[in-house]
Amino acid sequence: MSDLIQRRFMSMFDTAVEGLWIMTPDRQVAFFNHTFYQQFPFNPEGASLSDWTDLIHPDDRHLFKDNVDKQLNFSDGDKKVLSQYRVRKKDGSYCWIEALGAMKRDDQGEYMVGNHRDITSQKKLESSIRRLAFSDKVSGLPNRDQLKIDLQTRKSDVTLLHIHLKRIQSYINQFGELVIQEVIDRTIQCLDIFQPFNSKFYRSSTETFTVVLYSPIPEQQLAELCQKFIHMFSKHADQNGALYIDGVCIGAYPCKDLLQDPDEVINWAAQTSEYAYRNEESQWTICNDEIQKKVKRYFYIERKLKSAIKNDEISVRFQPIINAKTRELVSFEALARWDKSKIGEIYPDEFIPVAERKGLISDLGKKVLTQASGFIAYYNKIRNSDIKVNVNVSVLQLLDGTFPDQALEIVRGEGATTNSVVLELTESVLLEDKCQAMNQLRQLQSFGFQLAMDDFGSGHSSVTGFFKLPFQQLKIDRELVNDSMKEAEPYAYLEFLTMLCSIRGIGVTIEGIETEEMMERFIQMDVSSFQGYLIAKPLTLESAMEYRGYGISHNDNVCSIEQLVIPNIA
Ligand code: C2E
Ligand code: MG
Ligand code: MG
Repeated sequence: MSDLIQRRFMSMFDTAVEGLWIMTPDRQVAFFNHTFYQQFPFNPEGASLSDWTDLIHPDDRHLFKDNVDKQLNFSDGDKKVLSQYRVRKKDGSYCWIEALGAMKRDDQGEYMVGNHRDITSQKKLESSIRRLAFSDKVSGLPNRDQLKIDLQTRKSDVTLLHIHLKRIQSYINQFGELVIQEVIDRTIQCLDIFQPFNSKFYRSSTETFTVVLYSPIPEQQLAELCQKFIHMFSKHADQNGALYIDGVCIGAYPCKDLLQDPDEVINWAAQTSEYAYRNEESQWTICNDEIQKKVKRYFYIERKLKSAIKNDEISVRFQPIINAKTRELVSFEALARWDKSKIGEIYPDEFIPVAERKGLISDLGKKVLTQASGFIAYYNKIRNSDIKVNVNVSVLQLLDGTFPDQALEIVRGEGATTNSVVLELTESVLLEDKCQAMNQLRQLQSFGFQLAMDDFGSGHSSVTGFFKLPFQQLKIDRELVNDSMKEAEPYAYLEFLTMLCSIRGIGVTIEGIETEEMMERFIQMDVSSFQGYLIAKPLTLESAMEYRGYGISHNDNVCSIEQLVIPNIA
């Protein structure tokens, strides 16, 4: 190539948008393209590698030097090394440079060639896409994806707090996102109490804020912080009227396993928070070993109840109710048990609320009524008697218009009669639409069912409300019974109530009789019947068949249990 052509060829680089460079093994660099390099505060003529290195951002310099050393060690000419770093410009700002370099060899020896490209706008775009992808646009806080990344790269034990603002989504649906901006701002203000514990805040879903505490914190202090947060939050809500949420609950999960998967850590905190919401009065729970077992149990029930009902895993126990004067058996109360579960026996207080919430109570109720009716038919046939069985009915079942007809069909289908079945309803029936509840009760009564008010005195007891409804039996709640053993006023109240019931021909049953002393006390009150652990705990079908009464031996039986063929109903 002639000198002229070579000069003209070189001048072409001055118009290129990228910088080009050649470096010899003694690290002398020739920078081509003045238009590109004039933005940097150095003289490209006769510059060395260290002049360029001095302009590189201190945070990126180390990596840059490593890359150069790596490159110089390559003898393979095809191997290219790409690196990205920040370089200081004349105005003091930094731009992002992408450098691509390769080792070459000719008859004069080895050298390195490469180019520099300004990728600042590409980096800005990447970072704004990243911001959009990893942050919540309403609060500006990092989102769940960022939380997962941070948990994945954690270097120490952490505590996760899952803060659930209840039903906020419903308010957003009604009024739009803007309405909840105030709630979000106030929540962030309240989160400030976690600042001293090396914390980071996230809005991990529409209804959830997550706090990660990186400093260790004793359980007692954590409990105090949760309490304080809820207190501050409620105070804000009170002061500001409508804060567009229905409350707040917190699940705290201290994670001591660095290898635990981020999704699992997040789920534990979330499940603890839901458990707190449904089961704890305090609105917050810390997931220690004991709570972890309860949370597992709670979610097992949530997941498996539907199939348990379908697959007949729910059976019935029969708790005797005896005549207060003769102590003879008058009835059994049918109590549901989930006893074929993988986590052992589960009690109704755990699964009935779940069944009600998940719309399964009707199916569950039918199974219990079927087993109870089958038992009545079987018992009466074998014992040649006229036994009654009390069956609990949720108010949700009662309000289903088809319930009376279905109940009638089940009882008849099992060969029992409706007047052997006492349907127990709780006081919540008094709170329901009076007209609808009354119509259903009247229809059940017209079919021959007997009706009992269960757990009277445990909630919003209304004596006048009760006497307006067609009940034949009043069952007094265990707590009220216990109180009346200790104090004169509840005892006097029960005495008066029993008298009113006796005038109206309504039988009074005392629940929760656990001692002889209790029994004696209520015999004096002239109540009709007793139920409680002193008399008998809920019995299996086989034991119930043997039971005759309190202090009455089953040797008086017409035939022994061995002679009975037990039907497959429990
Ligand atoms: P409940 O209807 O008031 O039934 C009495 C509960 O008190 C039973 O608990 C029984 O085991 C317990 N109990 C009886 N005597 C004593 C005693 O002397 N001391 C103590 N501490 N407890 C006693 P269980 O079986 O756990 O049932 C709890 C509740 O679950 C029932 O209260 C009832 O409201 C509900 N339930 C049970 N089975 C069903 C069902 O099939 N359907 C519906 N809807 N609810 C049911
Ligand atoms: Mg009951
Ligand atoms: Mg009861």
